[in-house]
Amino acid sequence: KQKRDEEQKKLLQELKGKENITLDGTKINVFANISGIDNIGAVLLNDAGGIGLFRSEFLYLGREDYPSEEEQFEIYKEVLSRMEGKKVIIRTLDIGADKQVDYFKLPKEENPAMGYRAIRICLDRIDVFKTQLRAIYRASVYGTAAIMFPMIISVKEILRIKEIVEEVKAELTAAGIEIAPVELGIMVETPAAVMISEELAKEVSFFSIGTNDLTQYTLAIDRQNQSLDTIYDSHHPAVLRMIRMTIENGHKGGAWVGICGELGADTTLTKTFVDMGIDELSVSPTYVLGLRKAIREI
Ligand code: PEP
Ligand code: MG
Repeated sequence: KQKRDEEQKKLLQELKGKENITLDGTKINVFANISGIDNIGAVLLNDAGGIGLFRSEFLYLGREDYPSEEEQFEIYKEVLSRMEGKKVIIRTLDIGADKQVDYFKLPKEENPAMGYRAIRICLDRIDVFKTQLRAIYRASVYGTAAIMFPMIISVKEILRIKEIVEEVKAELTAAGIEIAPVELGIMVETPAAVMISEELAKEVSFFSIGTNDLTQYTLAIDRQNQSLDTIYDSHHPAVLRMIRMTIENGHKGGAWVGICGELGADTTLTKTFVDMGIDELSVSPTYVLGLRKAIREI
């Protein structure tokens, strides 16, 4: 641990304030993943360019009842304010599967990873979804907010989401509440989303590839099952081709493309991702500077 701490200190001295730029001049955004306000200190210390994944479900976990609009607003406001205009991508609620919340009273499922989770719940429980969207839009004036939606499999879902977003914006505006422009994007973490990524890209501003779930669903290997750890392989050619396809189709449709799954921090693949045309990599705060170093050596 001491050795790791020393390496981290050295990285800080050498690389804080420097650009994420390859030797031939390609710039990549290196952002950080967070699950709450407690992580912001590490994000700032490690000089991340923004937040590429705010796992907002942590606001809903470990409590007895739904977080109110006001509670959520205060948290998004604080994150946006402390990031001082740097982009903050808030992922809407991604519960179900491995993240169970009792007060949602979700039915017991045989196969929860493929079941009632994430956007599927939000498009069913519009009240819960709208509460979160209202809180984010109210906070949007305190910085640069973006929203992304998890577990997308169809264009139809995005069209419905956009209708709901428009309703929320109209309701806030009618109530005299100021809102700022917010970029909308999706997580690409299902093979379905990859295969229709060209169509999806026309509907959103950005894609963020969730390689944890994308590996699970592409290889049909439960990411939670430790006895499968030796064959759960994010470097599988099928996964890498899916990533390439998503980047190419995203760009064709006018969307920028990032990776926020754990694979984004794997520096043995940084050159591969840069060659594929990746625009952003979002990783745990402590990996930001190591990734910057890897990018600057390509
Ligand atoms: C992913 O699936 O890669 C991802 C970033 O989301 P989570 O790990 O929260 O499912
Ligand atoms: Mg995921």
